[in-house]
Amino acid sequence: MTSLKRLLLAMTMPIILIGCAVPAEDECAVPIAVQILGSGGPIAEGHRAGSSAVVWISGQAALLVDTGSGAFVRYGESGANFSDHRAILITHFHADHAADLPAILNSGGFAKRSSPLPIIGPSGDTLFPGTKAHLTALFDERDGAFRYLSGYLDGRFGLPKLESTEVDITIEGLQPVIQDQDLMVSAIAVHHGDLPALAYLIEMGSKSVIFAGDQSFLSEKFVEVFRNSKPDILIMHNVIPEGDGQPRGLHRGPGSIGEVAAAIKPRNLVLAHNMERALSHQAEGEAAIRKHYAGPLQVANDLDCFAL
Ligand SMILES: [Zn+2]
Repeated sequence: MTSLKRLLLAMTMPIILIGCAVPAEDECAVPIAVQILGSGGPIAEGHRAGSSAVVWISGQAALLVDTGSGAFVRYGESGANFSDHRAILITHFHADHAADLPAILNSGGFAKRSSPLPIIGPSGDTLFPGTKAHLTALFDERDGAFRYLSGYLDGRFGLPKLESTEVDITIEGLQPVIQDQDLMVSAIAVHHGDLPALAYLIEMGSKSVIFAGDQSFLSEKFVEVFRNSKPDILIMHNVIPEGDGQPRGLHRGPGSIGEVAAAIKPRNLVLAHNMERALSHQAEGEAAIRKHYAGPLQVANDLDCFAL
């Protein structure tokens, strides 16, 4: 569906589709929706691209959340218009969340966008570069790997300047990063092994979605901050099976996902970042979630839309 078609649908078919059982793509034809572009990663297995999503507001691809490996193709299929983006949000800089950023920006260079583009991501630490250093490594005019796109750092060569914001990962609690009348975005540091990583709360009027990002069970502040917050959608990552060789410092297992959902009480829990090792034990995984959480639960595929 093109973004023009989507805009027309959003204007002419509002509200009545919310809550109805309609095909996944039509779920985007509502005033506000989240579309999962990439529902898998990091292993190249089957048809799933790495983590990425679009938040559609009134038919416009307002936010791009992560740009994982393979997201470039799904981005094109989604009909997102680069000129419509109000910001790009990056949860962390593993390749399955950020590898297609230069590819999508390269594509966006053809959109003739003139307005600056905010990009938000974590600060760095001694092991990983932060958002600004990552962009410099990609686009610096002298040393950047993709120095021909250096206009993204300074607004030259007909490219929109990336206005980068680093979220300080040493601060506990929610940090506001976008505060517009119709769109509020806040970030919170989460524990993902030794990597600076964020989760995001996106609020659009009375609607809200939480992108939990990659996080381990040690992300206690995340649960504390969002307890009983009842977002319309909570997106969590289905990466490891229950109790089976879990790299526990990186991801939550299904039981932990269930505990988080029970605490936060979303209107809908969406599982993304679906790895085969988790999907091959999905029945056990969902049973582990159900020990704690009884609400709606959906497993996302690439390009699935979820209405808010
Ligand atoms: Zn990941």
